[in-house]
Amino acid sequence: MNLDLQAFQGTRQRVCRTVPAASFGSENEDQYEVTGPVTIDLDVRRNESNFRLVGRLDAILDLGCCRCLERFAWPVGLDIDILYVPESENAGEGDVRIEEADVNTAFYRDERIDLGELMHEQFQLTLPMKPLCREDCVGLCHVCGGNRNTTPCQCTDSWEDPRLAGLKNLLNQ
Ligand SMILES: [Zn+2]
Ligand SMILES: [Zn+2]
Repeated sequence: MNLDLQAFQGTRQRVCRTVPAASFGSENEDQYEVTGPVTIDLDVRRNESNFRLVGRLDAILDLGCCRCLERFAWPVGLDIDILYVPESENAGEGDVRIEEADVNTAFYRDERIDLGELMHEQFQLTLPMKPLCREDCVGLCHVCGGNRNTTPCQCTDSWEDPRLAGLKNLLNQ
């Protein structure tokens, strides 16, 4: 999933790729899984050794709901605007001059841009802090452990905060 910069012709190129879900694998530390093909459509503009990638990234990710733990599809459509500058060997000296301060900057090395890494980073950035299968997900029952979205149970009605139980006893006396 590399963009070969040595093969780059001229100053501008369109790069369209459709990457099958299988090429992403499923690393356990990821909070998401890629379930459908990912499409990336980029307008790549070269300015000497800098490459600006502007375009769009579309995918369907699979996330786990933080309340009911069910997996659910999370469609992602992201606008991309990243400036890739060479990772110089003498980093720190004569810092790279970035003309457009509002552009995200990344580094490339070995004359290639790793599009897989780019996608992974973009996915990470877009993931919700608390993924929910739906806004009003009622989650798991803390008594019987059932998924209250699909199997409503009566536990909630009879459940009582143990801290309140003592108070109630006092009141009943
Ligand atoms: Zn849920
Ligand atoms: Zn229950």
